[in-house]
Amino acid sequence: MNEAFNILKMNTMVEGMTSEDLIRLEDKHGAHNYHPLEAVLTRGEGVHVWDVEGKKYYDFLSAYSAVNQGHCHPKIVEAMVEQSRKLTLTSRAFYNDALGPYEKYVTEYFGFDKVLPMNTGAEAVETAIKICRKWAYEKKGIAENAAQIIVCDGNFHGRTTTIISFSNDPDANKNFGPYTPGFISIPYDDTEALEEALKQDNVAGFMAEPIQGEAGVYVPSEGYLKKAKELCKAAGALFIADEVQTGIARTGELLAVDHENVKPDILILGKAISGGAYPVSAVLADDDVMMVIKPGQHGSTFGGNPVAAKVAMAALEVVKDEELAANANRLGNIFRAEMNRIIENTDLVLKVRGKGLLNAIIVNDVETSKTAWNLCVALKENGLLAKPTHGNIIRFAPPLVMTEEQLMECVAIIEKTIMNFEK
Ligand SMILES: *Cc1c(COP(=O)(O)O)cnc(C)c1O
Repeated sequence: MNEAFNILKMNTMVEGMTSEDLIRLEDKHGAHNYHPLEAVLTRGEGVHVWDVEGKKYYDFLSAYSAVNQGHCHPKIVEAMVEQSRKLTLTSRAFYNDALGPYEKYVTEYFGFDKVLPMNTGAEAVETAIKICRKWAYEKKGIAENAAQIIVCDGNFHGRTTTIISFSNDPDANKNFGPYTPGFISIPYDDTEALEEALKQDNVAGFMAEPIQGEAGVYVPSEGYLKKAKELCKAAGALFIADEVQTGIARTGELLAVDHENVKPDILILGKAISGGAYPVSAVLADDDVMMVIKPGQHGSTFGGNPVAAKVAMAALEVVKDEELAANANRLGNIFRAEMNRIIENTDLVLKVRGKGLLNAIIVNDVETSKTAWNLCVALKENGLLAKPTHGNIIRFAPPLVMTEEQLMECVAIIEKTIMNFEK
C-alpha cells in the first residue's frame, strides 16, 4: 500500500479520536509501565500544551525537566529540521561534520576536556560507571573486579539492570534481580556516612544527584556537595554528579553543583541538553579520566549523531541567550514565597521545598498517595499539569521560559485548586 495513503489514514484516524479513545488504545496495546494523568496532549508551545479536545494547560512537569527551553522552541526545532534534511546518522564508524563542532562547544560550555555523547540519561549513567571503574583499575590500581562505587539511598539514576541494582525503591528493583554488585549505598546528605564509606577498600567513586529529583526534590544541606567533593578528592575517589534532572539551568544555575562552585570529576547530563526535542545525553570529564576509554571499548550507534549534535548546540544556545538560569532563580524564589503564603492558609499542604524552578509541595496525607493524585487531577481540570512523585509529594517544574506574569497565573490556579479541594 502506498505510504502517503497510510499516513493520511493514520491522521484521519487520530483526528476523529477523543482523549478517551486514545487512552483506551494505549491501555490495550502498550505495556502498562506508566500510570499517566489523563491528559492526551497533541501540541505544545513554550510553557503551554494542548489536549486533543483543545484544552490548554500550563505544563508544570516539563517532561521531567527535559523541556526547560519550552515546548517546540523554534530555534531548536529549526536546527533539528535543517540537519534532518541533510544527514541524520553516520554511526561513529565514520566522522561527521556536526560532531566535532558540538564536542568543542559542549566541553567549553561546561568546562571539561572531553565529552562522550550518548542518547538517554540511563546510558550516560552507565557510561559514567564504566569510566569510573576503568579509571579505578588502570589509574588507581584497584584489583580487577573489586571496584566499589558509593551511591545514595533514595537515588534515581535510570532504569537499566545495573542502575536499578543500587536503587532502594522496591518498584524499581523488585523481581528484576540478580543485581549487579559493586555499589555501596549510604544515606543522602550525610557527609559523615560518606567519610566512613570512603574508608572502605577499593572505592572508585561517589555518584549522587545534587538534588534528589525523583525521590521528591530533596535539597541537601548547604555545603554538602562541596564537602563531598573534598572527601572524594582526599580519598582518591571520583566525584560523579548526575545532573540529568538538575542540570541545564533548572535550579537557577547552569548546573546545580555551581551553587557550591564544585567541579565534578564526571558530569552526567541528559534531558534538557536537547530541550526535549531529541534524546541526547552526555558524559563530561577531563583527559586523565576520560582517556581511559580507548577505541572499541564503549559506544552507541546513535550517540553523537549529527541531529543530536545540532539540536544540543541549539538547546544550549537558547539557555544562554534567554538567560534561563537567572530566570529560574528569580521565579523560583517568587514561587516558593507564594507557596509558603498559601500554606499558611491551608492544612492540605505541609511544605514547599526546592531550588530555582525545581520544587515540590508535600501534601498532608502521609498514609497514601491518593490526596496528591486527586490534587493533580483537580489541577489538571483547572489547566495545570503536574504529577505526584513518591506518594504525597507533587513536583512543580515548569519550563524555564516562563514569565513572571504567567507564573502568577499558575500560582492563582494552584491556590484556587488547593482552597477548593475536598479531601
Ligand atoms: C531522568 C533521570 C535519569 C534517567 O534518564 P533517562 O533519559 O530516563 O534514561 C537519570 N538520572 C536522573 C537524575 C534523572 O532524573
